[in-house]
Amino acid sequence: MEPTPAQHSITSIQYQYADHHRGSSSPEDDSDLDPDYFASDTEGSDTYSGSVSEESCDELVVSRQRTKPSKVRALIAEKSRSDVTEHTHSTDDQPVTSEMQYEEPARNEERAGVTVACSSGSKTWDKKSYCYYCTVPQAQIQRHWFSKHKSERYVVEIDLCKDKIKRNQLIARLRNLGNHCHNVEVMQKGEGEIMVTHRKTVATGATDYVPCDQCYSYVQKRQLWRHKCRIRKSQKGRKANQAQLLLPAPAGMSRTVYELLSSMIDDEVKFVAKNDNLIVEYARKLIQSKGMQKKAYIKDKVREVTRFLIQARKSTGKDNLCMKDCINPTYFSLCLSAVKELTGFDEGTASYRVPSLALKIGHALKKLANIVKRQAIESRQYEEIRDIDYFSDLCNAEWGEEIARYALDTLQQRKRNKVNLLPVTTDVQKLISYLRQTSTKCMSDLQKAIDGGFKEAIPLLHRELAEVTLADIITFNRRRQGEVAKLTMADYNKKTKVDMASDVQAGLSQMEQKLCRLFSRVEIRGKRDRVVPVLTTEHTQSAVDLLNRCRSDAGIRESNEYVFSIAYFDNYLRGSDMLRKATCAVELDSHPL
Ligand SMILES: [Zn+2]
Ligand SMILES: [Zn+2]
Repeated sequence: MEPTPAQHSITSIQYQYADHHRGSSSPEDDSDLDPDYFASDTEGSDTYSGSVSEESCDELVVSRQRTKPSKVRALIAEKSRSDVTEHTHSTDDQPVTSEMQYEEPARNEERAGVTVACSSGSKTWDKKSYCYYCTVPQAQIQRHWFSKHKSERYVVEIDLCKDKIKRNQLIARLRNLGNHCHNVEVMQKGEGEIMVTHRKTVATGATDYVPCDQCYSYVQKRQLWRHKCRIRKSQKGRKANQAQLLLPAPAGMSRTVYELLSSMIDDEVKFVAKNDNLIVEYARKLIQSKGMQKKAYIKDKVREVTRFLIQARKSTGKDNLCMKDCINPTYFSLCLSAVKELTGFDEGTASYRVPSLALKIGHALKKLANIVKRQAIESRQYEEIRDIDYFSDLCNAEWGEEIARYALDTLQQRKRNKVNLLPVTTDVQKLISYLRQTSTKCMSDLQKAIDGGFKEAIPLLHRELAEVTLADIITFNRRRQGEVAKLTMADYNKKTKVDMASDVQAGLSQMEQKLCRLFSRVEIRGKRDRVVPVLTTEHTQSAVDLLNRCRSDAGIRESNEYVFSIAYFDNYLRGSDMLRKATCAVELDSHPL
């Protein structure tokens, strides 16, 4: 039944998002809904491919000849002068400078032609819903279903449902599904009007809306946290990011890149990164080489270059400057000043506020230049290839002089002046005994909660035990916090003990043999993918085993592969935070560890 106008106004007054419904979506439904958005990934290499024809090879060889950096600048100046003169001849009206040759880039503006359905007033009942089966907008959607699609599975389900509340939920869900399919189609096309659950009287942006991943109501992203969905059991985690993944990836962006960029924090950086073709390609390359396991690292890299682009836009005053424009010898000095501005370069002391960022951007620019070069080679744009080569030459020669030298100096300076604080032995003892005591207490509490069936208490106790155990393993092994924190379930399950029957045992002293029996060895991935051994005592092993046993009750996702995982996220606990927390809880004699 369609809600009557009176019902409608009551619900809208009561609460905007109250018209949701209970029910369950079968996996079959999801497969219907989740069209294959995967864009084909074109494989490319950074190096010259053999596909270049012979006559073009000569030009390439000429363009690849490395000229001395000092000469490069002179050449560029000459080139831009000649370009200017050429243009002045071609246009009679006004002189054209090299600045004005800048072409407005074709930006991949997300959902630029998509609008949101508006309501013409509070007293109008002109809302039409899109039919899930024939995608035609209908004012009386239920009447339409029962007359045209009465043999469809969902319609039969509604027809057979006798429970009024359940029936209303099924109706709302099917209505939302129809609208969702229409919206997805509009977004893929890039033009049209999307239908949202609660229309506003004023125009709103299409990018503001995301579907609820359970009931498919279109809700404003910033309001999703208070969307009371009766289908979903728990409301925890970053729901807006999850919801965004239901929307189609923009044309030309692969699904993995879209997933990665969508999971970034909603701010200017994310918006700029999503709309710049070169940054999107850079992210794709990074995913290709590092894999989605290193999502956090890739996001950091994307943020670095995007922040650089935003700064470059500010410096030039051009809001539509794209990353590809920066990879040009003409803009090299702009790049230098943008980096200096971004990293807080102080001319007086020749030092940086964030020296490492300056170095990282330098490396990123070289990689970006390679990507642009590959694209230029593929499209046989020899002028562009030459320009990029000049840019790379400048990067190699000038970057070190202008940026990297001072950045390294600053880093060195800071290292020299840093006081190295070492913990006092009594403090270490205190910390270790605190960790052991807390861990034993947490373990017994968690065990009690599991045995007694106190499911509400499990997530909190699980987290506490994970925090203490993580800090314990780090202090015991004296390892880098990041390495132990990233301990995966797969690595942990491969833990080994020394084979007591082997010949090696005979050569060991009694004490050594005892120690061998005490510890298990887990091999984890360390810095630069080195193998790092981590020893676990029986106590920590039983703590980790207990943690693993109640993962699902503690709200740990199945996709989370870490032992010290965070509930409702795919992330892991940070070791440094846990160590800090532990040291704060202990009264230390000297400075904090
Ligand atoms: Zn229909
Ligand atoms: Zn919902």
